Amino acid sequence: MLKLLRRIIQEVNVAGDLDEALTIIVSRVREAMVADVCSVYLTDPQDGGQVLMATDGLNPNAVRQVRLPPGQGIVTLVVERAEPVNLDHAAAHPRFLLLPETNETPYQSFLGVPIINHRKVLGVLVTQRRVAERCNDDQVAFQVTVAAALAGAIAHAEASGSITTLLGVLPQTNRRFKGLAGAPGVVIGKALVMNPQIDLNVIPDRRIDDPKTEEETFLAAVEAVRADIRELGQGLSQALSTEEATLFDAYLLMLGSDSLVGKALESIRAGNWAPGALRQTVMEHVRVFRAMEDPLLQERASDIIDLGRRIMSRLVEQDRRTFKYPKRTILVADDVSATMIAEVPAGRLAAVVSMHGSRYSHAAILARAFGVPAVMGLLDLPIAKLEGLEVVVDGYSGSLYLDPSPTIRAEFLRIVQEEKKLMAGLRELRDLPAETTDGCRVPLYANAGLIADMGPSRESGAEGIGLYRTEILFMIRDRFPGEEEQAALFRRVLRAFAPRMVTMRTLDVGGDKSLPYFPIHESNPFLGWRGIRITLDHPEIFLTHLRAMVRASEGLNNLQILLPMVYCVSEVEDTLVLLQRAYRELLDEGCQVKMPKVGVMVEVPAAAYQIGAFARRVDFLSVGTNDLTQYLLAVDRNNERVAGLYDHLHPAVLQTLVHITTLARTHNIPVGVCGEMAGDPMLALLLVAMGVNHLSMNAGCLPRVKYTIRHFSLERAQAILKEVLDFENCTAARLYLDAIMEKEGLSHLVHPV
Ligand code: PEP
Ligand code: MG
Repeated sequence: MLKLLRRIIQEVNVAGDLDEALTIIVSRVREAMVADVCSVYLTDPQDGGQVLMATDGLNPNAVRQVRLPPGQGIVTLVVERAEPVNLDHAAAHPRFLLLPETNETPYQSFLGVPIINHRKVLGVLVTQRRVAERCNDDQVAFQVTVAAALAGAIAHAEASGSITTLLGVLPQTNRRFKGLAGAPGVVIGKALVMNPQIDLNVIPDRRIDDPKTEEETFLAAVEAVRADIRELGQGLSQALSTEEATLFDAYLLMLGSDSLVGKALESIRAGNWAPGALRQTVMEHVRVFRAMEDPLLQERASDIIDLGRRIMSRLVEQDRRTFKYPKRTILVADDVSATMIAEVPAGRLAAVVSMHGSRYSHAAILARAFGVPAVMGLLDLPIAKLEGLEVVVDGYSGSLYLDPSPTIRAEFLRIVQEEKKLMAGLRELRDLPAETTDGCRVPLYANAGLIADMGPSRESGAEGIGLYRTEILFMIRDRFPGEEEQAALFRRVLRAFAPRMVTMRTLDVGGDKSLPYFPIHESNPFLGWRGIRITLDHPEIFLTHLRAMVRASEGLNNLQILLPMVYCVSEVEDTLVLLQRAYRELLDEGCQVKMPKVGVMVEVPAAAYQIGAFARRVDFLSVGTNDLTQYLLAVDRNNERVAGLYDHLHPAVLQTLVHITTLARTHNIPVGVCGEMAGDPMLALLLVAMGVNHLSMNAGCLPRVKYTIRHFSLERAQAILKEVLDFENCTAARLYLDAIMEKEGLSHLVHPV
């Protein structure tokens, strides 16, 4: 069964469009269930009724003609109940509705199972039989499994507009995709799709003007792969049997074949760029092979994919060197990384769109640092079809409009203009302090990670850098940077902000931040080798890093050092020993350096219970609410499936923050917050009410937070906090805060006007 199921899913995955996918589903499921009929009904987004979208067994002319309004027919009963309906005499059921156009009179038994994705019923998978017999447990289980496995593909089709298009409800323009709000703002720009890993499915089509050059590029890539394979085959010839070695001959044969190379060339000549043409050809071959009965031939599909990937990596490598970035680049990728963002030339990045990740992923954090909107977790985005399309990115609601109609375009242009006005107004606050109306002053610092962040950070009116993420420097290199290289860069950062303080966090990799030259493979990376655990295990790297920081501060003396992912005091003590050593070495070498202040990040729940112990060892604390929330709630900050559960307003998060700030006061140690929570105007106000000593956030959020703090008194903020702490769930707390924003006329700070 499992094999069969896998095969169906594989076939569906390579189907050209939704129509083809549904046709495959009904025919394979009918076969597997030994049924007389298999049909798929999908929910019409307009009226919630069920539309027959594909059938194997009923009258094919009834497809898209049969529509069951809500409440009529057994199919809609499956939707209402959201569970299987298994009948031996369908005609005897009170909800039975005879549909003459389907010719279904002879079928007695009926099994309908709902197709559900994220609690939403997308349609119904139905099998029918002539015999009057209920399906057995195994049959029901199989059909339920198929429906569950296909729900993702159908949700994708629904989101991409394929269903509405098939139903003839909406035109192809204005297709709207809903993801997660990653960074605020609204822009209209052109999509540029980047593909770091070679996933053939996400390679876009792209029109080209010069097929001749494209052909040459393609043939050069094929030739290079042929040479690689020959070399591989020769290298392994001793170790392989003759039979095994023929695999390499088969590869070479395929690379010379007209069906693979010739077909791709045809597509290039028709105007597609080489990677798009290759994806098309490979997928067609895969489809054909997978549909074959002979398991050996089916396996050929994997060989074709392997070859396709090899050629693709050669092509993409070349393409990366010649990327043409549109003026307003909407950077789109399966999983946008910090490196990709850094690759976009200065001034061209207009927005970030990622199929994976959430607001707390580093791509979204970087987008906020650059002040550009981001939409994350768009699992359903048809990424292969986006290249060059005009796209509206709404980072407030987490929506995307492809190919917007003139009306939508005009509406968003209006919002863009309003945004500009808002930002211009906020800029006037630049040199004013962040102070409540009753005189409580809370310094606002910026979070940064690139040299390019320094300008926007200063512009925002930040009083210092509260979190400098040093790992970004490490991520955009192809090896560990040396002491000189690090020191030179750190000095630029320190100088850019002197005499204001710059808090540099020591290298925080692991989790979702990997270095291309230092791969870490773990089944549970967020609970694994991360942050200070790695640097302490590599004193040679850590010492160089600490020396570079301290050296960079010579004569400026505005450096503070922050330690990430600390979970016990010995990590702090071991780091302090290394830091003392670095400091003394530098003094011995004649550097006029001062020992910097040191702080601990409170981002592991265990750290929240050791505030006193840290206070006895370091100078300040900084709460990393991104990780603290993730670990307290057991919700992966990057997982779009559970993004709805990740909430700083969860009572456990708020209580922990109250606990940390209270203990910090008791132990007389300054405490700040440098997670994304600090950049949300109302949440920042709650933190002020808790008594934090400073807040550090992305430069783009800083003016909004300052505006909010200046709007309220500390007394009022404390009263709001008291109310919020009484709520037992996040939704109620959120509604309460939204209502205050609305009443105070502050909603425009977090929603488009
Ligand atoms: C945090 O965890 O809140 C934090 C600021 O660190 P990062 O987002 O870089 O993990
Ligand atoms: Mg963190």
